[in-house]
Amino acid sequence: MKPPSIATALIHQSGRAPDGFEAAMPGTFRASTVYFPDMASVRALDRDRFDSYWYGLFGTPTTYALQAKVARLEGGRHTLLVPSGMAAISLVDMALLKSGDEVLLPENAYVTGRELAAHELAAWGIRVHLYDPLQPESLSRQLGGQTRLVWLEAPGSLTMEFPDLCDLIARARRSDAVIALDNTWGCGLAFDAFAVPAEGGGKAGVDITVNALTKYASGSGDVLMGAVTTRDDALHVRLRRAYMRQGWGVGADDAALVLRSLPSLPVRYAAQDASARRLAAWCSGRPEFAAVLHPALQGSPGYRHWASLCRAAAGVFTVVFHETLRTEDVDCFVDSLACFRIGYSWGGSTSLAMAYDPRPWRSESGVRRAGPLVRLSIGLESADDLQADLEQALGALRRP
Ligand SMILES: *Cc1c(COP(=O)(O)O)cnc(C)c1O
Repeated sequence: MKPPSIATALIHQSGRAPDGFEAAMPGTFRASTVYFPDMASVRALDRDRFDSYWYGLFGTPTTYALQAKVARLEGGRHTLLVPSGMAAISLVDMALLKSGDEVLLPENAYVTGRELAAHELAAWGIRVHLYDPLQPESLSRQLGGQTRLVWLEAPGSLTMEFPDLCDLIARARRSDAVIALDNTWGCGLAFDAFAVPAEGGGKAGVDITVNALTKYASGSGDVLMGAVTTRDDALHVRLRRAYMRQGWGVGADDAALVLRSLPSLPVRYAAQDASARRLAAWCSGRPEFAAVLHPALQGSPGYRHWASLCRAAAGVFTVVFHETLRTEDVDCFVDSLACFRIGYSWGGSTSLAMAYDPRPWRSESGVRRAGPLVRLSIGLESADDLQADLEQALGALRRP
């Protein structure tokens, strides 16, 4: 053949990393099409293999590298990456539930996950039951012959109640439901979700974790991603087939950004934990607050369960103002903060504040206080600066 023309020569190049090259980060391999050397390799493809390359949506060296690291972090064996934490919840629900099935959620579940259940899942004929995570017998009461999935969350991401996971897991194991935990708060660092001992000596740990990598794993408030992790091969295959049919997947650039943040994750988590505990303790000495909700703070709902299971805590907590304060007063407090920015999410380097109306999230046994809540996500700024900021904003608080 004669040498290719310039147009062809500029197109045909290999995206293969050259032998002899090695660096700190895996390459960012962007691909929809993945090339096969010959048709025999196409015909030999096993779509259930976890390491095969056949279409960019289903895995590239970049996404496989991140999946392996997240699986290790979560204490599982297989991870699937999806475009957000909420997508991780959707994937689990949509892969495991069908019309006529029942699903159990804690009443303090991540609110969009609850809304997905109340709207789409209910519309698809799936019955949704809420249980009180601090009253394990309420989980047992809701467990039926059609229960296929039980969600756990520790702690509730706004009201911060830490449930007795050992007891809840043992109870859920009395059915053949799959047990899934939203592990965004613990992030694989605070406790081992796949090894939580089940009370009474049953099968330990949960079956699935989801982690909103958007929070700690990304760590900079600039990437959205979620992960679904399992230990069991058969369960992973079931999820992965639904994953491929439903078209989930993440881009290589986002995966590379998260890979870049993971090495500092344990250090960031520990630093944010230390600052948050210090600030939570300081807040609990302030007369403006009726309560400070942080699972590692004595007196906070579920403190005992946190203490018996966890070695760390995420850097996020909620302050409850006295009921006498009006929404405008609390808004004035939040607006007066200078170092804390106003926004949703947590786990990033910038501290965040957000006011919430607690009523839709109040559990029967947990947080009954009706006062307005402000959730504080502690970033990586100096804790002295953050404390001074809270102090000056409390000074600006209008008293009724
Ligand atoms: C943020 C969050 C999610 C959702 O993650 P997104 O990436 O924002 O969709 C799910 N669960 C918990 C506990 C979260 O904090």
